[in-house]
Amino acid sequence: MDFTLSEEHLMIRDAARDFAKAELLPGVIERDNKQEFPTEQVKKMGELGFLGMMVDPKYGGGGMDTISYVLAMEELSKIDASASVIVSVNNSLVCYGLQAYGSEEQKQKYLTKLATGESIGAFCLSEPEAGSDATSQKTTAIDKGDHYILNGTKNWITNGGSADYYLVIAQTDREKGHRGINAFIVEKGWDGFEVGPKEDKLGIRGSDTHTLNFNDVKVPKENRIGEDGFGFKFAMKTLSGGRIGIAAQALGIAAGAYELARDYSKIRKAFGTEICNHQAIAFKLADMHTKIEASRHLVMKAAWDKDQGNNYDMSSAMAKLYASQTAMEVTVEAVQVHGGNGFVKEYHVERLMRDAKITQIYEGTSEIQKIVISRGLLRD
Ligand SMILES: Cc1cc2nc3c(=O)[nH]c(=O)nc-3n(C[C@H](O)[C@H](O)[C@H](O)COP(=O)(O)OP(=O)(O)OC[C@H]3O[C@@H](n4cnc5c(N)ncnc54)[C@H](O)[C@@H]3O)c2cc1C
Repeated sequence: MDFTLSEEHLMIRDAARDFAKAELLPGVIERDNKQEFPTEQVKKMGELGFLGMMVDPKYGGGGMDTISYVLAMEELSKIDASASVIVSVNNSLVCYGLQAYGSEEQKQKYLTKLATGESIGAFCLSEPEAGSDATSQKTTAIDKGDHYILNGTKNWITNGGSADYYLVIAQTDREKGHRGINAFIVEKGWDGFEVGPKEDKLGIRGSDTHTLNFNDVKVPKENRIGEDGFGFKFAMKTLSGGRIGIAAQALGIAAGAYELARDYSKIRKAFGTEICNHQAIAFKLADMHTKIEASRHLVMKAAWDKDQGNNYDMSSAMAKLYASQTAMEVTVEAVQVHGGNGFVKEYHVERLMRDAKITQIYEGTSEIQKIVISRGLLRD
């Protein structure tokens, strides 16, 4: 067993760290306040290869492994979790889904643009009545021979307003239950496709989350992903990898808050000494660091499992469950270490605390991760 990162991994981590400090940090508070999508920053991330990290170079991607991806996700998330969720959705849901299961034509037409950041993608599974229970899809796609007619509503869609291409899950044959679900590539601007207003959120306010409406949208048959009835499996397989990205996001939020708290505790004085010299504060730092390190090991193990071709359903669920819980706990403590300064925007930790919460909700709530883990444990 070797815990050492390769030279290449260190380079990628440092490049993400430098980018986050130079390009994401300035303006991060303002973007959060105004709920402003980081358009310029996303463009630069595309140019630097952060939007298609694991995609085969023949489709314009970086050809990197999942370890590289989680290292970059951690660094970006330390500074700006709104930017990192855009990276996560584009890489591990949209690009991965197309690379693993798309046809050659779909890869040439869509993946090549998504991998370079020329276009942005969104992944559309959730509906007003189908969140955790994703099998209850109400959106329908009726087979009309050479095309499908798509009708329904998707909600909570990340990149909802900014995406160019949307992977949309819909029911094609209700009688077949989840085996009658398909996934489709839908382009922005197609007749009958409307993007609803932006959600006003607690955290990751720079990312845009929208409801989408589909009214008799004509989707060519060649835009169905995989065999007929593959859509639910497609969504579950894709989300399993997506959870590694969200676990890395949670890890980064926790690590970012911890680093701010550690540094602050070395300069803030109370009772004649730096507050880190009070054992109550030093022990908080010890607990935070230990939980972060444990999260990092789970995230790395899940990424390694994926890279090795092992089943990663359980390891990604465990990584997301634990890292997201750590993100909540550590960010709350980071605010505490900052005292009153922790409660104002200037010191960043209050934003990280707000951002942390979503990691326990999207791509499967913590309760759903426990279902995945316990089913895996009890399967044999
Ligand atoms: C900011 C944001 C961005 C998002 N981005 C996307 C996106 O890009 N694409 C997308 O498709 N979706 C997205 N989502 C949706 C997200 O994945 C869902 O909100 C999540 O899966 C939970 O579904 P729900 O909100 O319907 O909650 P519900 O399913 O109604 O759950 C409510 C509560 O009940 C619990 N619960 C439900 N079932 C069980 C059970 N069987 N056992 C125990 N507890 C249970 C849940 O854990 C939760 O605590 C996003 C959500 C948000 C808030």
